[in-house]
Amino acid sequence: MDFYEKMNVEPLINASETYTNLGGSLMDERVLQAMREAGNHFVDMGKLLDQVCSRAAKLSGNEGAFVTTGAAGGVILSAAACICGKDEELLDRIPHLKDVVRKEILVFDGEFLDLIPYWKLIGLTGAVIRKVEPTVEAMLQAVDERTAAVFLFPATLYEKGIPTCEEIIPKLKEKGVTVVVDAAAQLPPPSNLWYYTKELGADLVIFSGGKHIRGPQCTGLIAGRRDLTESCRMAASPNPRIGRAFKTGKEELAGFITALELFVNEDPKKRFAQQESMLQRMQQILKRTDGVKTELIREGRLGTYQPLLLVTLPDGMTAEACNRFTRASKPAIDVGVYGPEFGMPENLIFLNAYNLKEGEDQIVAETVSRFVEESYKTKSSEA
Ligand SMILES: *Cc1c(COP(=O)(O)O)cnc(C)c1O
Repeated sequence: MDFYEKMNVEPLINASETYTNLGGSLMDERVLQAMREAGNHFVDMGKLLDQVCSRAAKLSGNEGAFVTTGAAGGVILSAAACICGKDEELLDRIPHLKDVVRKEILVFDGEFLDLIPYWKLIGLTGAVIRKVEPTVEAMLQAVDERTAAVFLFPATLYEKGIPTCEEIIPKLKEKGVTVVVDAAAQLPPPSNLWYYTKELGADLVIFSGGKHIRGPQCTGLIAGRRDLTESCRMAASPNPRIGRAFKTGKEELAGFITALELFVNEDPKKRFAQQESMLQRMQQILKRTDGVKTELIREGRLGTYQPLLLVTLPDGMTAEACNRFTRASKPAIDVGVYGPEFGMPENLIFLNAYNLKEGEDQIVAETVSRFVEESYKTKSSEA
């Protein structure tokens, strides 16, 4: 019996996003194989961690790297590193930092800050989080001797009404402030792995391993300045410090580094084209459905390099109802519903091929089409 059958949990087709609550992404067979092999032996974990991290630094085009349990774990470890550096006594004391002066982490107080829960987790280190008015001037003025770092959250949505990384990072670097970028979901293109650090000058950048990199769900990457990534390593498991709670196992380390290798060696244009042709096939099917309008766009939901198919349902049909229908279908499908924060029409869904297997595109398009047809029928029987 299949595992999900045994657990009585029904698998679904992911036509929406690398959402954590759907399981993020699926790992390549080679990633799963590396995990199985890693699980066959005991190993000196310190040595494995060092090797995996130095390989991750090379692959991501950064001076240093640390592999952790997820971007959220990465945010917390980075904050610890920015406050404590390599001071072992301070690292031991986290989160009890009452008498430490330089422990403020600054974030922009943008309209969408509450959509990003991750900055709050910084508080677990004992840091004081200060929200700053979202202008370049206000941020530069807020920096003083108490500032340990500025944390930034790039994405077209989160940056609405606040300065972009391009605007603020060079200015902060002129002032000598440590800058950390949480770019968890800002992939592809793979060049973003070094864009924020090498091109813009940020000190650290953080990515999810379980989203677009297609590694294990519970992995993440911190990359950038080596002294800081080494400090993350000191704060982390197997040491008895804050990062003991974010333990990566040998299997996850093996899976992550294999996935990262595949991700950086893959031609992003080729992957884009594969997704685009899946979306075009869905577009062909949906076009034949009465009253449905489609548009293929060349930018992901948060501004990343991936195509999306926007589908406008006939008037009176909502994206929410469509997703309820597809989730209840066999096989169950999750289609993209924009949250209210995107300010999109309520009859607009998005379809994303990033997580679709060959052949699933047709099932998705036909199911959405069936939703429209059945909604027409219900309407006319009510009339
Ligand atoms: C998804 C996400 C995270 C959390 O990533 P995990 O790898 O699931 O821990 C953190 N920050 C941002 C901006 C994200 O989109």
